[in-house]
Amino acid sequence: MNNAHISAMTKRLCGHIDMYSFSSKGRSGRRSDTLYATATVCGECRARLGGLIANPDAGFFPLALPALAGRENAVCWAKDIRLKLLRKLGPVMAQLKKSQDPLATAALATFEMLFKIPTALFWIENREFPFDCAWVVFEVEHLMRPRPTSTVRLSGSSAFVYWSQADHSVIAAAKVAASAVIDVDVVPAAQAVFEAQAPSQPATAQSIFL
Ligand SMILES: [Zn+2]
Repeated sequence: MNNAHISAMTKRLCGHIDMYSFSSKGRSGRRSDTLYATATVCGECRARLGGLIANPDAGFFPLALPALAGRENAVCWAKDIRLKLLRKLGPVMAQLKKSQDPLATAALATFEMLFKIPTALFWIENREFPFDCAWVVFEVEHLMRPRPTSTVRLSGSSAFVYWSQADHSVIAAAKVAASAVIDVDVVPAAQAVFEAQAPSQPATAQSIFL
């Protein structure tokens, strides 16, 4: 009987325990699967991040965009690409800003890291890249990891990878912004934070009727 495919309860990067399917063969395959499982978030956190960025209402998020660096025509092209992406992601960022979910702070921090990138070539090379849920999960996992992992491939579309090579202070600032989910044993539930804050903000409920 082939026993290469095994599922086991595994503690993930977010601190949640879920059923992870180990599919690589042999002892070293099993070890790299384990490393991957502990360096990535659980299925529920993935789904939570997906929900947080899905179907945003029309919204505006104020951002200071850096001047782009590169050849003149490259800068011109990159500006267009960046603006188009900002039109798509601005409402997503506005939605994240309003969210009570601690994971939203991390997702927003990753988008802010992205729009801080001043290299025209980055925008041109990633002009077809969707910057969708898979990207956000990838970036949030990078932010959450206490140390870099070799089990996750580097990506040319990653803002985290870009800044880990260009300027570490940008990553440090993103980690501060996302501190609700950084260096925690378990990522807090969305509603736990909401309930904890609700009693201290009686004015919020009132203002709805004004
Ligand atoms: Zn989780």
